[in-house]
Amino acid sequence: MKGILKSKIFFIGLFLFIFLINAAQATEYRQCTRVVDGDTIILDRNERVRLIGVDTPETVYPSKPVEFFGKEASAFTKRMVQGKKVRLEYDWQRKDKYGRTLAYIYLSDGTFLNAEIIKQGYGHAYTKYPFKYLEDFRKYERESREKRRGLWADDPVASTERLAQGEGNKSPPGQILPNVAPQKSEAVTVYVTRTGAKYHREGCRYLRRSSIPISLEEAKKRYSPCSVCSPPQ
Ligand SMILES: [Zn+2]
Repeated sequence: MKGILKSKIFFIGLFLFIFLINAAQATEYRQCTRVVDGDTIILDRNERVRLIGVDTPETVYPSKPVEFFGKEASAFTKRMVQGKKVRLEYDWQRKDKYGRTLAYIYLSDGTFLNAEIIKQGYGHAYTKYPFKYLEDFRKYERESREKRRGLWADDPVASTERLAQGEGNKSPPGQILPNVAPQKSEAVTVYVTRTGAKYHREGCRYLRRSSIPISLEEAKKRYSPCSVCSPPQ
């Protein structure tokens, strides 16, 4: 009897241990320390991660001229994750031939970065190799093209130039006074949520659950201004 009881306790203990290990892994968050370009980021412990299923224009190869829309894609990913906590999810292949980790990246509010890049028109669905969200990503790209977002806009070259001018001289939110010396809307960043129909200033209380940066110009096409934080119009 004693032997059976002992082994029961041992197995219960073992299951509990395995369960706790799994639970710990499931909620592990990492820090994004740097964004290399739209689809490649660096995590703490210097781990280089290539986002699965998305391809953004290159900006970093010195031999190539900056690819069309690359700067904007890179700036978008920066605004989304640089300096933030992220959660990783993997597919069938954990590393590529360059030793980069292949992963899906989620923010702590549940925003799915890989999908968001395609939905907002900052990259293509990369379908050369199979992955579990391939059909979803194709659909997002189709929608993004139809709605002429980002890369698919009528005049994305002009918006690239505007972005370059706007970087570095953005006024902090709260100092942008509507009607008084209005800023060029292309240079201003406002925020939207995953499900809402309004756009907001940074820090608005409605952004607690999700906060997706977007240019004011884009926001005005698809969202209406929040009446609580009254963002620039
Ligand atoms: Zn608001």
